[in-house]
Amino acid sequence: MCIFCKIIQKEIPAEIVFEDEELLAFKDMHPLAPVHVLIIPKRHIESINDLAGQDVELAGKLIIVAKQLAHELDIAEKGYKLLFRVGRDGGQEVPHIHLHLIGGAELYEDIRPIG
Ligand code: 5GP
Ligand code: ZN
Repeated sequence: MCIFCKIIQKEIPAEIVFEDEELLAFKDMHPLAPVHVLIIPKRHIESINDLAGQDVELAGKLIIVAKQLAHELDIAEKGYKLLFRVGRDGGQEVPHIHLHLIGGAELYEDIRPIG
């Protein structure tokens, strides 16, 4: 079982900020900013590459919950970043889809022009 599935099963503790039947959101253990939350589907899906057409509602819900949490965590107005890493080149370390919600500080571009 992957590490995020263990968090879903409550086998590993996490600071949970949202939970319903389909999704879980919890604080990242190594935050990159004052607010750093991971929003995940409860169903184990390895990456965005593994989403199917019928997952469109689930994929959209990840973003809607991120938006709600941004509001609740008081970063909606100032702004924030939403990030999906995919696979090796994308820097994905945990093989279970997670949407990063990062905010509470000025977040300048972490990807620079290649020219
Ligand atoms: P990735 O690089 O895969 O997009 O991001 C994985 C994120 O998961 C990292 O920011 C890392 O700090 C976080 N993370 C990894 N293991 C755990 C854990 O056991 N608990 C929590 N709360 N976060 C974790
Ligand atoms: Zn998993």
